[in-house]
Amino acid sequence: FRHGEASEVVVDTPNGPVHFGETHPIVVVAGPCSVENEDMIVETARRVKAAGAKFLRGGAFKPRTSPYAFQGHGESALELLATAREVTGLGIITELMDASDLEMLGEVADVIQIGARNMHNFSLLKKVGAQDKPVLLKRGMSATIEEWLMAAEYILAAGNPRVILCERGIRTFDRQYTRNTLDLSVIPVLRKLTHLPIMIDPSHGTGWSDQVPSMARAAIAAGTDSLMIEVHPTPNKALSDGPQSLTPDRFDHLMGEELAVIGKAV
Ligand code: PEP
Ligand code: MN
Repeated sequence: FRHGEASEVVVDTPNGPVHFGETHPIVVVAGPCSVENEDMIVETARRVKAAGAKFLRGGAFKPRTSPYAFQGHGESALELLATAREVTGLGIITELMDASDLEMLGEVADVIQIGARNMHNFSLLKKVGAQDKPVLLKRGMSATIEEWLMAAEYILAAGNPRVILCERGIRTFDRQYTRNTLDLSVIPVLRKLTHLPIMIDPSHGTGWSDQVPSMARAAIAAGTDSLMIEVHPTPNKALSDGPQSLTPDRFDHLMGEELAVIGKAV
């Protein structure tokens, strides 16, 4: 349990160090669900950087519900992320699903994402705890806060202090209007229980792009340290999570006028 001041997680990126934590500006992570090809990832990286994002997100290994759905381009997608990193200087966040990919993924990722479906994969948690890259730990879709914090504890106990907690929505009974229930009440709860930085992901949290801007604003009003937003140049053609992805123009508007009114520098 928390004692003392909020700690910060500092991540080195080609553009310089980025600080996640209560006493720092909101850090925005943006990009497509999946890395699809070089043009789309480089274009998206350029646009989200221009809008103020500090990290590019993009999946190379995708945890899809169906084994017949697009699984990600794997190693070649990591190479495309490296290109986008080189071109823009943005830090890279990408998901690790299999410990055997850790070394390869660590060559391009500045932060390693553990997805909701692997939050309970304790052997994977121990492995990312035993290496040096910071870890973004998403909340399992039916995980209690206690279970989520204990998953973080696996990483910390293995020796890695740089963990960021990401709320991405919990299971909902509503099948029609929302994909998940974004649990913004975790923000004050986590503040009380842990010193770890908090990220909110309204894209997976709602599943629908028209719900993302208002939930991003709400998350900032409630005190989040960072946001994850899915952005795709042509959401209706996306290979995964198109319906919840903002266009670069819509993201730009969010980052400008809409988030500016909240008052905390982005
Ligand atoms: C993602 O970030 O694209 C993702 C698969 O997220 P989650 O693990 O939260 O479903
Ligand atoms: Mn996604």
